[in-house]
Amino acid sequence: MFQSQIPNFIRKEFPKDEESYNAKVLIRAGFIDKLMAGVYSYLPFGLRVLNKINSIVRDEINAIGAQEVLMPALNPKENWQQTGRWSTFEALFKIVSRDKKEFALGPTHEEVVVPLAQKAIFSYKDLPFGLYQIQTKFRDEPRAKSGILRGREFMMKDLYSFHSDGEDLEKYYSKAIIAYQKIYKRVELDALLVEASGGTFSKYSHEFQVLSENGEDSIVYCKKCHFAQNSEINSSKDGDSCPKCGTPLVLGKGIEVGNIFKLNTKYSDPFKLKFKDKDGEEKLVIMGCYGIGTSRLMGAVAESSHDDRGLIWPSSIAPFEIHLIALVSNDKKENKKIFERANKVYSQLLKMGIEVLFDDRQDKSAGEKFAESDLIGIPARLIISQKTGSKIEFKKRNEAEAKIVDFSFIKKYCSGIKNEVI
Ligand code: ATP
Ligand code: MG
Repeated sequence: MFQSQIPNFIRKEFPKDEESYNAKVLIRAGFIDKLMAGVYSYLPFGLRVLNKINSIVRDEINAIGAQEVLMPALNPKENWQQTGRWSTFEALFKIVSRDKKEFALGPTHEEVVVPLAQKAIFSYKDLPFGLYQIQTKFRDEPRAKSGILRGREFMMKDLYSFHSDGEDLEKYYSKAIIAYQKIYKRVELDALLVEASGGTFSKYSHEFQVLSENGEDSIVYCKKCHFAQNSEINSSKDGDSCPKCGTPLVLGKGIEVGNIFKLNTKYSDPFKLKFKDKDGEEKLVIMGCYGIGTSRLMGAVAESSHDDRGLIWPSSIAPFEIHLIALVSNDKKENKKIFERANKVYSQLLKMGIEVLFDDRQDKSAGEKFAESDLIGIPARLIISQKTGSKIEFKKRNEAEAKIVDFSFIKKYCSGIKNEVI
């Protein structure tokens, strides 16, 4: 991608109307734009990151056998009355049509997926299955001050599983935990599996929490065996012994990047979602639900992977794999040579299937190009200038030292990217 052809949303300063680091840096680096509190546009760089996160999530959720669907954001009031959540879900956005009918904008989709699943469930033979979507959710959040960590409109992967008994749900639930752990590993986040309040039907739900100073949740956890609980439900305090291994627990702040629940019959009951069992008896379907805020995940990576110059993306979700920068020379002839060389390197990289952002802009100084490159945070940077001659300067975003290398070195680095199997 030629950088000269991408509208430059990068700003010289951090925005003044944001409190959270993720929003400040993502806006300044041209990844997102704020429309109003809790509502953001995803710009060319930001959408590339979000799409990559979504495709990692899709990959791992497909791997446990779930099927992708896309359900409507616009929901009829009746479905939300059926579960009682029309009046109890405080963050529910409600809208009225011109003929005075009321609707909800989906904050989660049990009210849609349960009646949908009924159309494919008759007997025990139709179970189990999982349906999921990656879709825009709406929540009337009272405090939308944490950038994309807490949107009023945000992207979520929500999976719902349907079973004939609790044992089968347990099996699926364990598979979902492993899929979630793979997802966090692929985006290079350390996520703790945390026991949290589970509502009425099971003792605990499980949250996945990334430790971060800017997190909104308080977690007590054990550094040794990774036992962790959300302190909202837990009476243990900082310094108490871990109930699993006895090591003193510590208190930390966390960002909730996922939450999974054993719903049992919580939603199948109000919709009478039933199946005929082997013995001919009609029973309620047992359910689980599993959410990951994919836009929040992007914010969590921004919070955890940066330095004072800007973002440092893990290669799995970086907007590009390589930032190729051509430095302008005042000498016209030299400048022509530099850009010819850079163009050649650019097409060679493209041929290898590498995603390259090519800073081919003629009106930016070296200082401006470097500062913007650090801010954007692509994992590797190549510089071609009058100084580098026929060689190339190579520097990783997370390392201080640059190297002067031949193209063969770059080729090797690129085949490394392509062979990276996570
Ligand atoms: P929180 O406690 O942070 O408000 P929640 O427990 O209400 O979140 P869930 O209903 O469990 O959220 O939603 C599943 C996942 O969706 C969460 O784990 C989180 O990753 C994400 N999520 C929830 N609310 C938001 C939001 N307002 N903006 C971005 N992501 C969100
Ligand atoms: Mg939650």
